[in-house]
Amino acid sequence: MENIAKKLNESAPELLIKKNESLAKYTYTKTGGNADLFVMPKTTEEVQSVVQFCSEESVPLTILGNGSNLIVKDGGIRGIVLYLDLLNTVYREDTMIYAGSGAKLIDVSRFARDESLTGLEFACGIPGSVGGALYMNAGAYGGEISDCLHKATVLTTKGELLHLERADLAAKYRHSTVAEKKLYCSRSSVSIRAFRKTTHRSKDGRTDRSTRIETTA
Ligand SMILES: Cc1cc2nc3c(=O)[nH]c(=O)nc-3n(C[C@H](O)[C@H](O)[C@H](O)COP(=O)(O)OP(=O)(O)OC[C@H]3O[C@@H](n4cnc5c(N)ncnc54)[C@H](O)[C@@H]3O)c2cc1C
Repeated sequence: MENIAKKLNESAPELLIKKNESLAKYTYTKTGGNADLFVMPKTTEEVQSVVQFCSEESVPLTILGNGSNLIVKDGGIRGIVLYLDLLNTVYREDTMIYAGSGAKLIDVSRFARDESLTGLEFACGIPGSVGGALYMNAGAYGGEISDCLHKATVLTTKGELLHLERADLAAKYRHSTVAEKKLYCSRSSVSIRAFRKTTHRSKDGRTDRSTRIETTA
């Protein structure tokens, strides 16, 4: 593994690489053995370098989200574990929220609330990452991530970049094409509706105490 770490560092010099890292720190159950190599990319380009490297060098690659839907055995994971926690940027453009795949779904849901955007309320209690949610089409209370997905940037196992639209996700109950085709998600945009509160004036010109919700597409 020493040799593989050295080669990986040559192809992605800025990449954070940890050797023999305990995965118990990163799983929801706080259990599990060590990863031979544990890498934390900061950009989609770094994710791509790692995926291409693993494909070319035939190194096993495992992607770890928030670790809330998997159990790591005590013997750990051989090869490279790709942890996307640093790809956690969340920002808004108009009524669209863009989120890195390592962003926590709960944080994205809270961000939407703070920005007065509606559509992600169902996700406020799901303890996963955005990438993990797309992998299994996470959902609750009658909503699921495929309902509000706009686009997702994913990589094939060979490291080719693809842009998936909502229909490409082929979402079913707790299943999607990300799991089916073994894709790696690095960035997604979640399309959600915006609302703003307005004050309603009654016919006599007085301000109504109640607020009206205007919805824009
Ligand atoms: C207390 C609790 C409550 C829960 N409630 C719900 C619920 O209400 N609804 C629901 O749907 N689920 C629920 N879950 C399950 C879990 O939160 C979801 O499955 C979540 O989507 C898993 O995301 P994760 O990031 O933790 O994935 P992980 O557990 O880290 O990984 C799960 C799978 O996804 C893959 N994966 C992770 N990230 C990516 C990525 N970026 N690209 C490609 N593949 C990736 C992994 O390789 C792995 O195969 C709950 C779990 C717990 C522990």
